[in-house]
Amino acid sequence: MASNLEVAPRKLISVNPATGETLRELDCASEPEIRAAVARARSAQPKWRELGIRRRVAVVKELARVLCEKKTDLAQLISREVGKPYAEALTTEVIVVLDSARFYIDNAYRLLETQPVSHGSLAMKQKSGSIVREPVGVVAIISPWNYPFATPATETLAALIAGNAVIVKPSEFTPLIMLEFADLLDRAGVPDHIFQVLVGDGSTGAALINAEIDKLIFTGSVATGKRIGQMAGARLLPVVLELGGKDPLLVFEDAAIDVASSAAVWGAFVNAGQACLSVERCYVHRSIHDAFLAAVVNKTERLRIGDGMNPEVDMGPMIHQRQLEIVEQHVEEAKQRGARVVTGGTRVPERGPNFYAPTVLANVTQEMRIMREETFGPVLPIMAFDTEEEAIRLANDSEFGLGASIFTRDRARGERLARRIASGTVLINDVVCGFGISEAPHGGVKSSGIGRTHGSFGLEEMVNIKYIASDRLPGMKKLWWFPYATAFPRQIEGLLDMQFAGSLQRRVEGALRSVGCLFGKRL
Ligand code: NAD
Repeated sequence: MASNLEVAPRKLISVNPATGETLRELDCASEPEIRAAVARARSAQPKWRELGIRRRVAVVKELARVLCEKKTDLAQLISREVGKPYAEALTTEVIVVLDSARFYIDNAYRLLETQPVSHGSLAMKQKSGSIVREPVGVVAIISPWNYPFATPATETLAALIAGNAVIVKPSEFTPLIMLEFADLLDRAGVPDHIFQVLVGDGSTGAALINAEIDKLIFTGSVATGKRIGQMAGARLLPVVLELGGKDPLLVFEDAAIDVASSAAVWGAFVNAGQACLSVERCYVHRSIHDAFLAAVVNKTERLRIGDGMNPEVDMGPMIHQRQLEIVEQHVEEAKQRGARVVTGGTRVPERGPNFYAPTVLANVTQEMRIMREETFGPVLPIMAFDTEEEAIRLANDSEFGLGASIFTRDRARGERLARRIASGTVLINDVVCGFGISEAPHGGVKSSGIGRTHGSFGLEEMVNIKYIASDRLPGMKKLWWFPYATAFPRQIEGLLDMQFAGSLQRRVEGALRSVGCLFGKRL
């Protein structure tokens, strides 16, 4: 029965976390609006698919041009909505999306084109086969606030170029950037309803999952990822889950201390430590531990904290009080269990309510929450190790497995150790930047998630793989169809010997037996 009650839309407010300034108030999408958006996407998608890869690539080329033109406005908006330095909004968000566009422009045709299959099995030799990659249909992208442009926009590019319609539900803390992106896609020539943004919170995301979408690309926390995995499992919705991390940095005795300490400081404090690939724990060879710690502390104390729109700032605020309180709890617990705060460890109220000082902890142990749970804030705990074995054991002693870094001047050693770390990415002599490498697959093992985004593997997530086989002898029935002749099993045995028997003699015998039986089979 129709209701005449009008339910007021839920509101959300986008706030600059550095200043507290309200940027905009928006309505959350209602369930009927979500269903209508999915229906519009579904009816618009076939035309986009029929456009073909080359014409979709042309649209992405135009998007890259428009985005490059608007880079300053967009990076400023990112800086205001998340608080990160403007320079970081350019280097870790805008460049990442432009480079992702470059990758798909250069490679989409090759990666999506039909692939011939040659058949090795004797019984299938007469078939000509191919693998066809077809868009899945309507792809929903639910994303977090920490990289509100790079994360959903790179996923969107992959989905669009593969021929899908896309609906993004950005984080409730950073809705404005995707609305701007929608405008850019519109200017680039993406047809109506092929890209839509649904503003809202977790319940908006849940309603989107329950609408008739064909695939979900989710990026966010492990807790939400598990809930979403259950919802998706209940209706067999295919999902990619890009979840949290507790990335280790291993610094070996042969590393350049100056380089490794700069990497540790940037890796731990970029975006105020609110990156899924942040350096969250650092293990240093005991022989260089003290020198490394001193270098890290020196560099940390020189970081300038403030509003990201100020060009003289290195580190901005945390996104909100809840995230800041998690950081405080982890640091407090570590202190109570014997950790030493070498620098930082406090809020910076003179900058604003969401600022926390970049913090370095020593004397930490593996049991502390700061070494086990995702802190997602500007804290770098440093611990000494004695042997390679111990370093690898400590790195792998985690429920997470997103990224890891190794610093050593011996690249062969780095590559050997990288293979022993359980994670989706290992960087040798670098930190964090895997997400910005468009060729690199991004994703994790263990609680860090399922599936991959970015690069060729990210594109594969946006298509259904279809195998098509066409028989070259359409006038001939197959040997293995009914009715089974009495001699048929012996013929198959002969065929198996012919292909797999250990000696040449048995293979020849098998072939003869099989041919002999052929005449006993009713065709
Ligand atoms: P979150 O899990 O709280 O929220 C992520 C998104 O999910 C938001 O858009 C939110 O509205 C939505 N959501 C919440 N509950 C939902 C539900 N029940 N159904 C559907 N959608 C729901 O995460 P966050 O605090 O926004 O982001 C921080 C987390 O994201 C960290 O754990 C970080 O490591 C992770 N992250 C991972 C990657 C990666 O690529 N692996 C990248 C960035 C961030």
